[in-house]
Amino acid sequence: MKAGRNGSESWRVMTGIATVEAIDVQVGRTGILTPVAHISPVRLAGTVVKRVNLYNFDEMRLKDVRVGDDVLVWEAGNVIPQIVQVVNGDRADRSSPCVPPHRCPACKGPLTRPGAVHLCCTNPNCPARVKERIRHFASRGAMNIKSLGPARIERLVDSGLVRTAADLYALEIGGAAALEGMGEQSARRLLRAIEASKSRGLASLLVGLSMPHIGNTTAKALAARFGTLDALMSADGWQLREVAGVGKEGAEAIIAFFGNPRSRSVIHRLMMAGVGAPPAHHAASSHRLSALVDKITHILKAGVRFVLAAGLRGGEYDHGN
Ligand SMILES: [Zn+2]
Repeated sequence: MKAGRNGSESWRVMTGIATVEAIDVQVGRTGILTPVAHISPVRLAGTVVKRVNLYNFDEMRLKDVRVGDDVLVWEAGNVIPQIVQVVNGDRADRSSPCVPPHRCPACKGPLTRPGAVHLCCTNPNCPARVKERIRHFASRGAMNIKSLGPARIERLVDSGLVRTAADLYALEIGGAAALEGMGEQSARRLLRAIEASKSRGLASLLVGLSMPHIGNTTAKALAARFGTLDALMSADGWQLREVAGVGKEGAEAIIAFFGNPRSRSVIHRLMMAGVGAPPAHHAASSHRLSALVDKITHILKAGVRFVLAAGLRGGEYDHGN
């Protein structure tokens, strides 16, 4: 047992026994298939756990987790709950082992196994992947669209109104209000929340776009270095590699992402809608810089000798002897 920073016992390991009621397969935004065990509710570290991630089919086979089994579940600190082992695996009436699917359970499309560990859906338009991408885009760590929860995303995607993040900004009140369980007032609230997300800034947008190799820290570093999506998209590999946390692989992934016609189309529509525009202080500082350039040009034209003393970065300069 280890005490957390604030003295709480956030690292205490909690265990419990639960029964596996079902095993289903989730499709993530990148297409990775994950088996998930639905278990009888068990209280661990103050929260009731009903679902446990089994990571991949090899892991599931290794632990030989089957529907109806009693399993030992544990949770430690911020680590998500895991199944340690089956506790009654020797009983005679066990169900059959869960077999990995041959096709994507969401879109019935073909699967690949690129890294030998995970099965992946190859269809970028797979509805499960689209929903997960939108959910990630709207999440608190990205564009933080408060009124856009999983149930609404489900309806927006299933109705065909939303296929990409850019479609959110093209939503109209009539279409949104016609969705089941929505109504005009909720639709207006949703559209206001979507509108408000336009000013979240570049770092949030980069996180929301699900770019490979781009976590929150790298997104902030990229946004600080390039300032606008346009500048970032025009950057070459060397410029990208200068940014902390990017590296060779990250730079190549960024260039490939921006080179992909599908990403480009979504980004173009987002930009046209005014999403990820530089926040006010960026605009103000670029305005100050251009005013400064005008002033220097004026001084040069007037033939006055000057010394750039403090550099342009601070927005200060000195001219005189
Ligand atoms: Zn699929």
